[in-house]
Amino acid sequence: MKTLLSKEELREGVLRMADEIAACYEDRQLTIVGVLTGSVVLMADLIRAIDLPMRVGVLQTSSYRGATTTRGELVINSELMLDISNRDVLLVDDIFDTGHTLVRTMEKMRDFAPTSIRSAVLLRKNGRQEINYTPDFVGFDIPDEFVVGYGLDYEDMYRNLPFLAALEPEDLARHKEAIAGGTA
Ligand code: 5GP
Ligand code: MG
Repeated sequence: MKTLLSKEELREGVLRMADEIAACYEDRQLTIVGVLTGSVVLMADLIRAIDLPMRVGVLQTSSYRGATTTRGELVINSELMLDISNRDVLLVDDIFDTGHTLVRTMEKMRDFAPTSIRSAVLLRKNGRQEINYTPDFVGFDIPDEFVVGYGLDYEDMYRNLPFLAALEPEDLARHKEAIAGGTA
């Protein structure tokens, strides 16, 4: 695995995001909502570094793919949703790749009538965006490689790595062997 961002670099980037967020909202109360599961590590570090009164929640989305649609409809699991009406809301996700997931999640959240809704992502992949939208807070711009660690997974593994790594072809082969042996 090739390290793209060390533990220290991640820490600096997250603290910088936290300062930008605190400056943006001044002393207003913030409702911060993390998208499961990829944002959990970022959420834990970010919320403790933001010096604002805040409410914290999570949401989970699922895509249902119809027979005729290429992209499935995105549904928010409302049982997990915090009340966001008349609140200043910040949606937090791990990575902005094509952009579809974040933008569609924000559209769904607008149905719940927040006062404002902004977005923060740890990572944005260069040259991949298919949507004309820029997240309000971005930790790092990274090259177009498949990354894991600091919350990001490959088949639900590697989320606990304290650094961010690019998975290389030999890592994928090793991962497959480990799964086959049941010791992953
Ligand atoms: P988008 O809708 O922006 O194309 O996709 C965003 C989602 O794809 C992210 O929430 C994440 O789950 C997944 N994703 C995109 N790129 C990567 C990557 O490099 N590594 C991992 N682990 N997930 C990724
Ligand atoms: Mg994800």
